[in-house]
Amino acid sequence: MDLKQYVTTVENWPKEGISFKDITTIMDNGQAYKYATDQIVTYAKELGAEIIVGPEARGFIIGCPVAYALEIGFAPVRKPGKLPREVVSVDYGLEYGKDTLTMHCDAIKPGQKVMICDDLLATGGTVEATIRLIEQLGGTVVGCAFLIELSELSGREKIGNYPIKALIQY
Ligand code: IMP
Repeated sequence: MDLKQYVTTVENWPKEGISFKDITTIMDNGQAYKYATDQIVTYAKELGAEIIVGPEARGFIIGCPVAYALEIGFAPVRKPGKLPREVVSVDYGLEYGKDTLTMHCDAIKPGQKVMICDDLLATGGTVEATIRLIEQLGGTVVGCAFLIELSELSGREKIGNYPIKALIQY
């Protein structure tokens, strides 16, 4: 299946000059959503993932059905103030300013094999921060899976040596 045909590009959103990749038109098509999920499930099996981690909010949309299919757990990465119990946090740089991501301290067991899922890899800042959170908790990141990679933003280089799979390239 050519998944790219189900992505909608929205020009100048959320601000002027941004060409936004909207994945809701993959999700609202049952066959396309299942196909994309199945590809990532196969990859997670190859990597031997024992738990899926996804950053809010679109990482949930990609990661949760993968965890369900494999009968393994899912742990959310959230903005500050959203998780109710003790968290670890990391700050990461944005184009202007910085942001923070958090995870529950007991979300990952030491040595657990973790695969990260998100909708899109751009500069790699979000996934790099997510890797740091998982490693603070003693987890082993076995790979990262995305629906879309914006190759010209070189996120792959930022992440370094972690295995990465992206179903669609721009
Ligand atoms: P990065 O941190 O620069 O790699 O940006 C990736 C994060 O920003 C992901 O969590 C995406 O959900 C979000 N993102 C950036 N650009 C887009 C886009 O065009 N479509 C959907 N999400 C995007």
